[in-house]
Amino acid sequence: MKTSNFRIVPLPTEVAETARRAAKAGAADHAIVVADSPHGYPCRHCLCWAQPGERVILFPYASIPAGHPYSETGPIFVHAGTCQRYSATDEYPADFRNGRAFRAYDENYNMIDAEVANESEPGSVIERLLQNPEAAFVDARSVTRGCFTFRIQRA
Ligand SMILES: [Zn+2]
Repeated sequence: MKTSNFRIVPLPTEVAETARRAAKAGAADHAIVVADSPHGYPCRHCLCWAQPGERVILFPYASIPAGHPYSETGPIFVHAGTCQRYSATDEYPADFRNGRAFRAYDENYNMIDAEVANESEPGSVIERLLQNPEAAFVDARSVTRGCFTFRIQRA
């Protein structure tokens, strides 16, 4: 599904690489985990589910930076090995069509709206949230665990 008026923003490669270095150095807040289910370990860099047996790094990521009322740091996974950053930024990631909640933020990182895309098209939920002129970006999160998955910006 091509998107017309928004773009997918996967985790920057630099953040994934920094996490891999920190895990290798034994940082206490970076855990190496072996995926043991097909839909439990979403890599925020390639925007794919890590497959059972693949190693991932679990670490805290500040999706909303410090210094704001809605500042938020939470756990995310990236593949422990090198993976290719999601590049089809004009296509909604197929692996995450289900189970996502979408939060709209204004330019000052205030959460101004939120919606769950159940069976419906996640793209239409995103487009509806972005119709609000105050919305600067939308974050996709796990509807069950709440973890940040990826960002969406206007095209
Ligand atoms: Zn990956």
